Amino acid sequence: MYATIQVDLDSLWTYDRYLYQKINNYPVDPVYSQSLQSFLDLFAKYKLKATFFIIGKDVQNPKQSKYIKMIIEQGHEIANHSMNHLSDFAALSLEQIREEIILAHNLIKSVINKDPVGFRAPMFSINQPVIRVLEDLGYKYDASLMPSAIFPLMMNTAHSLLKLKPVNLKCGNIRWGDAPRGIYHPDKQNMAKPGAMEIKEVPVSVSNFARFPMHSTYVFVFGKFLFDSGFNYALKNKITLHYLFHGIDLLNIEQYSLKLPGFKTLTKRQKICEQIVKKLAENSQVVTTENLIAIGKETHGIHPASGI
Ligand SMILES: [Zn+2]
Repeated sequence: MYATIQVDLDSLWTYDRYLYQKINNYPVDPVYSQSLQSFLDLFAKYKLKATFFIIGKDVQNPKQSKYIKMIIEQGHEIANHSMNHLSDFAALSLEQIREEIILAHNLIKSVINKDPVGFRAPMFSINQPVIRVLEDLGYKYDASLMPSAIFPLMMNTAHSLLKLKPVNLKCGNIRWGDAPRGIYHPDKQNMAKPGAMEIKEVPVSVSNFARFPMHSTYVFVFGKFLFDSGFNYALKNKITLHYLFHGIDLLNIEQYSLKLPGFKTLTKRQKICEQIVKKLAENSQVVTTENLIAIGKETHGIHPASGI
């Protein structure tokens, strides 16, 4: 089985801004100065290459360039995670969407010396216009689709609790409960169905049980059975697995103002992250998302037109 490990390198400032409406101008964001090294060490220990989705605004900070260089020097992929990590990304105007993608694209290109080929929308906020913009810009893959009907409800509930007021994020779609779980070419009119677009959709993997999100945030809160469920499903059905971490997963958030109920201590999170990476390294071939697309091995995960 092929697998990718993807890290959304969402800086601490994105959480400060979204949850507390404040801007902390860290000279170097703690996600870059602290947790990035832990991720790089973990991936080096298991000799695997990952895909880091980074925010354009973080590339603009000259004090962070040495950290971004470390990612590149160690052979990992850098993909586009938009310029400003705006929530409700898909609700922006088409012009704003293009600008958010292109500004980050050009900044990333200036550090990796080639065009980035992959994109993930902030908060998984994706829709048909966004994917058409990506296709127009020559992107090889989008990794924003969560093939789960319960995901939008879970995100909105969790974020309403965190913000202590009802919020209505436009992330995911309740109709995506039957979207393909393996890589596919999306349909021009409905990105959650296989079709004729050139770009490929690389859905975030979900558990077999109720198509529950299985990425680290949920594993920390609900348990590792979510990961095992999604892992076993991918293995049995011969689809590629795309496992997602976030920058704060290996950050000592207790040092900062960030409060996430249910988020375990750093020691416990380190242990869980290593268990997951170890299992992926020992039982699958982990490659960058870009390489998976380039070598065509993702065909193992392409579903028939009916999708599952
Ligand atoms: Zn993000």
